[in-house]
Amino acid sequence: MPRRHSWAEPYKIKMVEHLRMTTRAEREVAIAEAGFNTFLLRSDDVYIDLLTDSGTSAMSDRQWAGLMMGDEAYAGSRNFYHLETAVRQFYGYRHVIPTHQGRGAEHILSIMCIKPGDFVPGNMYFTTTKAHQELAGATFVDVIVDAAHDPLDESPFKGNVDLAKLEALIARVGADRIPYLCMQTNVNMAGGQPISLANIKATSQLCRRHGIRIMMDATRAVENAYFIRKREPGYENHSIAHILLEMCSYTDGCTCSAKKDSLVNIGGWLAVNDDDLAEQARNLVVLFEGLHTYGGLAGRDMEAMAIGIEESVQYDHIHARIGQVEYLGQTLLRFGVPIVRPIGGHGIFIDAARFLPHIPREEFPSQALAAALYVQSGVRAMERGAVSSGRHHDTGENIFPKLELVRLTIPRRVYTQAHMDVTAEAVVDLYENARDIVGLRFTFEPKYLRFFQARFEPVIGAKVLRSAPVEAGMHVDAMAALGDGI
Ligand SMILES: *Cc1c(COP(=O)(O)O)cnc(C)c1O
Repeated sequence: MPRRHSWAEPYKIKMVEHLRMTTRAEREVAIAEAGFNTFLLRSDDVYIDLLTDSGTSAMSDRQWAGLMMGDEAYAGSRNFYHLETAVRQFYGYRHVIPTHQGRGAEHILSIMCIKPGDFVPGNMYFTTTKAHQELAGATFVDVIVDAAHDPLDESPFKGNVDLAKLEALIARVGADRIPYLCMQTNVNMAGGQPISLANIKATSQLCRRHGIRIMMDATRAVENAYFIRKREPGYENHSIAHILLEMCSYTDGCTCSAKKDSLVNIGGWLAVNDDDLAEQARNLVVLFEGLHTYGGLAGRDMEAMAIGIEESVQYDHIHARIGQVEYLGQTLLRFGVPIVRPIGGHGIFIDAARFLPHIPREEFPSQALAAALYVQSGVRAMERGAVSSGRHHDTGENIFPKLELVRLTIPRRVYTQAHMDVTAEAVVDLYENARDIVGLRFTFEPKYLRFFQARFEPVIGAKVLRSAPVEAGMHVDAMAALGDGI
């Protein structure tokens, strides 16, 4: 039989959810009402929603059937035992404590392990993870390799820990002030870039020598395992499940948001091997989340999670998931659109600074591009640039981070290849008419996490896109036939 090269989906569609098709005029009104901030759009006004891949997965028929098998007992639900078995089987940890989502597990781990004045090293941070470490009194120290900060660096494992940076921290503050190393997998904030097994092993050896625990953020560990199989010599014939187990075997526990890899809309867990830590965690979970056999979830949620975990490690699933992201990225690259390389696991990151060189950083090119993309096509993306970075504590000046990005995040099992084509066509059209995109200025700026609720206006006129750009390129006939329906 000829080898199949396509990433095609290993499922077919049983149920559809209708989307409201809007006109460009309607979208111009919607984005203006949303203050040119895609977070403030109503989802009903969005055609293809690439804001996030968190909790946006499509569940399988088996998972939906699992919802009907919910055992809503307060204590000892059968679904908890199913979840515990699944985590033990696929992640290998001894003790499993469910939480309402990832940050619930981060909260418990942080207050359990961190003393004020401690330091927590990590291969780049994640927003909620770092916030909980800091709330518990720790200082986060970034020990990721320098390549992670360079959008043009093609290294296969830009999520690796820089062992020299870690050793320098240990020498500076002492191992007893480092409660654990927080190991990110498929590092979200670096663009979905993996850590290698060789690096996990070496980091673990260094930490063990100093008696420092490793706690993994396993939220994207399955996507990471896929990249290890693809890119790390010696693993090309290993199953995803095997690689995942080996990754976890070098760590002491994990926090996990099941809203990503595990294919559910809500849920998470904390897992540890140490009996005393598990005891403490069970004491704390009952305070903040719920009893240790439900952790803020319904029995049916735990059932869907257990089934989702089993499905997530199937090679065909993860191959198609990452294949779809790769397909969108390669399509954009063919048209010369500047994106972060290599293409990561969960989304495409457009380099807005290179896309819109005529818009100064003070006029927020990423925010303007995300707004223009919505007007052009109904595709919703997320700003990851200066607006997200906020202002300096001391000077009040805007922080201009190295990377000024727009993130197109792909939900799992939700959109088709044609949806990816529509997205690519819209981005390419904008790229070819980039000078029509106008910068933005604040009309309302919240004090904290301003990107969620900030409002803007275009610096010239009332529109972020000066005029309807000529619909050039591969889809011009189809667009003419459809009118401006998308
Ligand atoms: C989403 C996410 C979290 C937080 O999980 P929630 O379920 O949103 O609370 C933690 N780490 C990573 C890497 C994530 O992507």
